[in-house]
Amino acid sequence: MPMPLYEFRCDECGPFDVSLPMSEVSAAAPCPSCAQPARRALTPPRLGRGGSTAARLHDATARTASEPGLVSGALPGAPRRPSRPVTTDPRHRSLPRP
Ligand SMILES: [Zn+2]
Repeated sequence: MPMPLYEFRCDECGPFDVSLPMSEVSAAAPCPSCAQPARRALTPPRLGRGGSTAARLHDATARTASEPGLVSGALPGAPRRPSRPVTTDPRHRSLPRP
């Protein structure tokens, strides 16, 4: 289970992130650059938004609701020629094919 990222802010060096179990998070942590105690920024554990991959995915998903993209690839009913295997698990190669 990934640990949540907490943002701390060093007066000298600026913000930095620390990964801590929730039970061990405290109000201050040593700055990785200058070792001075840095205060925890008043932000919730990193849950997305702010340019993260999750935020971009969320925005892209929301956009498709009003602006569906062009369908790329084979249309339903057209012969399918996948450019890459659907699975790379070697056990799946022995499964019967339609
Ligand atoms: Zn510092």
